[in-house]
Amino acid sequence: MTRPAPSFRAPRGTSITCANWQIEAMYRMVQNNLDPEVAEDPARLIVYGGSGQAARNHEALAGILATLRRLRPDETMLVQSGKCVGVFRTHVDAPRAVLANGNLVSDWSTWDEFRRLQELGLVMYGQMTAGSWIYIGSQGIVQGTYETFAAAGRAHFAGDLKGRLCVSAGLGGMGGAQPLAATLAGASFLAADVDRERIEKRLQTRYLDHLAGSIDEAIDLAWRKRAEKAAFSVGVVANATELLDAILARGLVPDLLTDQTSAHDMLNGYVPDGMSLAAARALRGADPKEYVRRACDTAARHVRAMRALQDRGAITFDYGNNLRTEARDAGVADAFRIPGFVPEYIRPQFCEGRGPFRWVATSGEAADIARTDELVLEMFGHDRSLATWIRAARERIAFQGLPARICWLGYGERHRFALAVNELVRKGELAAPIVFGRDHLDCGSVASPYRETEAMADGSDAVADWPLLNAMLNVACGATWVSIHNGGGVGIGKSLHAGQVTVADGSPDAARRIERVMLADPGIGVARHADAGYERAREIARERGVDLGGA
Ligand code: NAD
Repeated sequence: MTRPAPSFRAPRGTSITCANWQIEAMYRMVQNNLDPEVAEDPARLIVYGGSGQAARNHEALAGILATLRRLRPDETMLVQSGKCVGVFRTHVDAPRAVLANGNLVSDWSTWDEFRRLQELGLVMYGQMTAGSWIYIGSQGIVQGTYETFAAAGRAHFAGDLKGRLCVSAGLGGMGGAQPLAATLAGASFLAADVDRERIEKRLQTRYLDHLAGSIDEAIDLAWRKRAEKAAFSVGVVANATELLDAILARGLVPDLLTDQTSAHDMLNGYVPDGMSLAAARALRGADPKEYVRRACDTAARHVRAMRALQDRGAITFDYGNNLRTEARDAGVADAFRIPGFVPEYIRPQFCEGRGPFRWVATSGEAADIARTDELVLEMFGHDRSLATWIRAARERIAFQGLPARICWLGYGERHRFALAVNELVRKGELAAPIVFGRDHLDCGSVASPYRETEAMADGSDAVADWPLLNAMLNVACGATWVSIHNGGGVGIGKSLHAGQVTVADGSPDAARRIERVMLADPGIGVARHADAGYERAREIARERGVDLGGA
């Protein structure tokens, strides 16, 4: 049965459809994830990351929304792979929903088995924040990418990316943040994407400055901007391999080199070279095996070109999309000579419980986020990098869907900020409640040996107890909704991760929940890194009072 795809948009304003704001906030956030301004392909319920969905299918989505409309304040909705499968009486301080998306028993946790089950309509790929309803468009990743580029600048170029050129590929849901993040960090930027529409979307949202007509024009312009020390970004319609081969052929070397094509999914994401996008799409349907074979060959060529540029001096890092693994499996023995971005740039922050904290104005009013921006600067203005980000975000970030803000805050900061916001809601300084959440890519919520937990000091990369403990702890603390997913960022079987979202509705109950959740949630990150032997995490635990148990 086909039906016209409905158009999704979260309700705005102060009157609510659901029993209370805790439930209403969830009702708005599911729909916000599918707002055409936010989602990559709303008709197929795909939010980002190739195939990350907000609900299993349209019927399941209707079921979730209907359940939320009737859910009582002491009930909890169960969501199994994007479909509501039950409602249970719990209590008012418990989560209003618990979600598990795409989890498979270890030996079955492969793309083949996942796709077989997906064909049968039994599972959904939730990515990280698609199936847990806290995706906020490209802004979420702009800040993470900015943190990463800025950290690379500090590590390799004496603190500044001015006059440096960053080359990458993939300008999709996440990768589209790269041009803006790089220019905010002072660099010039050049990226290929096979899909013209994706590049045009980034031009419309002002994340990208210019779409070049050819690879040669793109390279000329990017290197000219580098020479002028101009923070300027250039996109070009091309396969990543074509762009890198052209750069190699001209004997040029970028300063920074990475990639954000959807290489976590060799069938529905990554696009083989040597054919048009239309031909690739046709092959995907007609002969999936052949498609995957060609995609894996392309990934191998792609990583070989990256390695060649790395050997010529480009600072090269993997950006968490599983490209190295695919290339290694296709015969590139030295693919892992390219380091992952987490051990290089992010882990030191994880040791402090810092991670991608974010919040959304359920009112739909930009003024609410403007007030929270002021509050961040009042409370944390002494942190220069954070203040630079908030000021730049205010000017350069166009909201997508409900107005939202992200900034990395650490242990001891998150709960203080959320409590202060809860107070603003209580006093009526904000039009409606604020939703607080985070990416699953956070300090204590993910096991992902090719990304967040790559090369842990004690070798505990694949230990997945931590995200499970994280989810259980957040349920115990009374987050508004808590989720456990398989495969986000790197693909089925390669990661397990958990998320939480907590609503600041201005009530004393919300304040208690906020305090519990937003100490425990980053606290487990400090504990995880302290347990793995990171001295910085042990110091933070001592200084800020994270109880690591024992004597
Ligand atoms: P997406 O599917 O929205 O976009 C991927 C883009 O890559 C598309 O525009 C596609 O046209 C393009 N593409 C695919 N193959 C290509 C090729 N060979 N050459 C040039 N362009 C090609 O995915 P996304 O949400 O942007 O995520 C990108 C990748 O980054 C995913 O693998 C995702 O899992 C990973 N990711 C990383 C992080 C992180 O923190 N570093 C976070 C989330 C996701």
